[in-house]
Amino acid sequence: MKDLYIDGSWYEAGDGARTDVLNPYDGSVLTSVSLAGPADVDAAVDAARFAFDNGAWRRTSAGERGEVLRHIADLLIRDREELARTESLDTGKTLEEGRVDVDDVVAVFRYYADLAGSDAGRVVDAGSPDVVSRIVHEPVGVCALIAPWNYPLLQICWKVAPALAAGNTMIVKPSEVTPLTTIKLVELVAEAGVPAGTVNLVLGPGPVGEALVTHPDVDLVSFTGGLSTGERIMANAAKGVKRIALELGGKNPNVVFDDADFDTAVDYALAATFAHSGQVCSAGARLIVQEGIHDRFVDEFAARAERIRLGNGLDPETECGPLVSAEHREKVERYIAGALDAGATLRAGGKRPDDPALSDGYFLRPTIFTDCTRDMAVVREEVFGPVVTVETFRDEQEAIDLANDTDYGLAGAVWTTDASVAQRVAGALRHGTVWINDYHPYLPQAEWGGFGKSGIGRELGPSGLAEYQETKHIYHNIDPTPARWFKG
Ligand code: NAD
Repeated sequence: MKDLYIDGSWYEAGDGARTDVLNPYDGSVLTSVSLAGPADVDAAVDAARFAFDNGAWRRTSAGERGEVLRHIADLLIRDREELARTESLDTGKTLEEGRVDVDDVVAVFRYYADLAGSDAGRVVDAGSPDVVSRIVHEPVGVCALIAPWNYPLLQICWKVAPALAAGNTMIVKPSEVTPLTTIKLVELVAEAGVPAGTVNLVLGPGPVGEALVTHPDVDLVSFTGGLSTGERIMANAAKGVKRIALELGGKNPNVVFDDADFDTAVDYALAATFAHSGQVCSAGARLIVQEGIHDRFVDEFAARAERIRLGNGLDPETECGPLVSAEHREKVERYIAGALDAGATLRAGGKRPDDPALSDGYFLRPTIFTDCTRDMAVVREEVFGPVVTVETFRDEQEAIDLANDTDYGLAGAVWTTDASVAQRVAGALRHGTVWINDYHPYLPQAEWGGFGKSGIGRELGPSGLAEYQETKHIYHNIDPTPARWFKG
């Protein structure tokens, strides 16, 4: 199958190398995809470079580019079920979660279509009637867009939509674990009429991404993934002084005060931690509950977690799918063993499901630990699985201290019916997004990104477009006369 998209045509890897893509529900082979080699990466970058330097895309008006983005959104809607189903098969997430992802990215393409068309720059006062001084935004150039496996379609679209809207050319690299919806996206981009060379696709693992990051003709790297990969990319990108945007991990606090609406807070705590089996960068993996309701809250939370139905993401009865791979499940299991060794109390899960029908998949029961302390690895490090730690607090200041005691700073939530407490805590949290009496909503028009080691830069919102733009000042002296700075 030809699945590398370079300069407007589909190719197999030059050396014919391929790798299997597995269904995490049962370990079966879904298909195989090409593994790009160095020559394929060079060809993709060359195509993007040529298209940027000579091609039509950045010279089309922002309004015309917006029309193409709207067309892509329409095609995504047309193929919504196919995309959602493919995402479910590839990642294990439920079909409904896959549909929500498609709806999200449709909104993102439409948002950037409108935003790009409305950005005419600005005129500044240069202090003279004979000068017109304009600030304009231009595309950065050739962008390498690198995505993780947990939200393959969503994460790549959060990059492709603003990068296209701004007039860049790009090379897209999905995770080697979940490439399928990105291949489909690139088909739709081509169908929508994006010119050849503007969007190119390479497939393969880390070294393929690294070849993009270190390529001298790449101007910008936008990466979503793990912290250690992000640090490596930042070091590699420094060599060419490339622009970078990093969306890294999180260890997100979900803070529940005694006066919170109890049932709603329990309900959302389940979604915060176990949606997509906790493989969510903003998962509420640190549940921080005030001491007055702690015991009752944990009892109800654990009882409901035990009732979560695991299964095939395509089955409408399934509430939670498997983890993405055998290796990833083993990593999560090591954290569970470490938490038990460190003295945490297991209140739910902690093991693979007993159901023999699930034994070939990479399943793990939703897992809850109490008696957790700040020094435990399971509290400090991103587990990225269906594992939540519960800590308790006495007063507002202690809640804030616990919530902020992390190297990360991606997102967090506070639950209380006291608006003053809610606003004070939201203001004090060192996290890029704070939800009050809710968890997980994202808006295309609201910036997403992290404080601290959760990353650099923002996706979504106006800042998400600015990541892909250079800012230029054009100063026009309409009536130039000699200034006689030098008298001779
Ligand atoms: P990962 O860092 O292992 O891989 C991410 C991508 O980077 C993959 O495409 C991979 O092939 C590529 N890659 C690996 N090494 C590379 C290198 N040296 N140079 C260039 N590219 C390289 O991450 P993952 O395991 O796929 O995803 C999970 C991580 O993603 C979690 O830490 C999660 O928190 C994070 N994440 C963050 C956000 C966010 O918005 N902040 C969203 C989703 C996921």
